[in-house]
Amino acid sequence: MSLQDFITGLPKAELHVHHVGSASPRIVSELAARHPDAGVPAHPESLREFFTFRDFAHFIDVYLAVVDLVRTPEDVRLLTYEVAREMAEGQNLRYAELTCTPYTSVVRGIAIQDYTEAIEDARVAAERDFGLVLRWIYDIPGESGIPAADATVEYALRHRTDALVGFGLGGPEIGVPRAQFRPHFDAARAAGLRSVPHAGETTGPETVWESLRLLGAERIGHGVSAARDPELLAHLADTGVVLEVCPTSNIATRAVDRIEDHPLRTFVDAGVTVTINSDDPPMFATSLNHDYEVAAGLLELDEQGVADLARVAVDASFAPDDVKARIRGEIDAYAAG
Ligand SMILES: [Zn+2]
Repeated sequence: MSLQDFITGLPKAELHVHHVGSASPRIVSELAARHPDAGVPAHPESLREFFTFRDFAHFIDVYLAVVDLVRTPEDVRLLTYEVAREMAEGQNLRYAELTCTPYTSVVRGIAIQDYTEAIEDARVAAERDFGLVLRWIYDIPGESGIPAADATVEYALRHRTDALVGFGLGGPEIGVPRAQFRPHFDAARAAGLRSVPHAGETTGPETVWESLRLLGAERIGHGVSAARDPELLAHLADTGVVLEVCPTSNIATRAVDRIEDHPLRTFVDAGVTVTINSDDPPMFATSLNHDYEVAAGLLELDEQGVADLARVAVDASFAPDDVKARIRGEIDAYAAG
């Protein structure tokens, strides 16, 4: 079996993947057909062109176009359920923590109660139909500032579902200081949510430090620039804070110039715990399987090494213990042939 085939069949968990950012051309075509006035092509051929990754600005255009197609609770349900189908059928995902940004849907007119009901309905159906366990991370869209943060905390605490496990912070880092969100993370953590902000993707190691010190980060989204700070690497290794590494995304957004310059190896050599993730897979022309292949290349891994990456993701997840044990068992059985 080729390593590629081994990865495809390997049962996996993913911890850093965005809800809207996971909409494939197939899903977008269904949404576009529901909302012809949005001006997004519904024909698969034209969509393929629309989805062809050109640069970061084009990614933002595609992302926002998809955000604008999610207009009703039924759109939210369809998006969530179909993303789950592709995760299970295409990537053999058994568990995923999907980062949702409810704020962008609520400002477009979907009530938070309806939003919550739609994702929960899709979650239950996905577990029943695909055997995929989903959990949610709600993230603050950093570019929308304090109002978005206030609202996201309210959604997380006053409209909480049992499947909400984490609280995050996404969007641009430049010009969006982490310190302003400290009260929001304090409130979320006090309510038992785990802190998983993006940091060090487009800014330096100081943003990772701030996320650790001010936001109580337990996992860091990306953390690319941590590679430039040996003290930070040692701290991450000592404390067991996990980096959610997204190799293809980092190249697409130019957080890293070339894949051979990716710091994944530096992290591993420093003893930092890393997981491999796909971030916004169709929009970056990747998949979790592909990112595992890229990681295997960077780290020179064989089948057992790749299976270890999958095990680390399960361990670093916020899944219930019985779910962790079950997926660990599936990985072990698969790796044993
Ligand atoms: Zn992300």
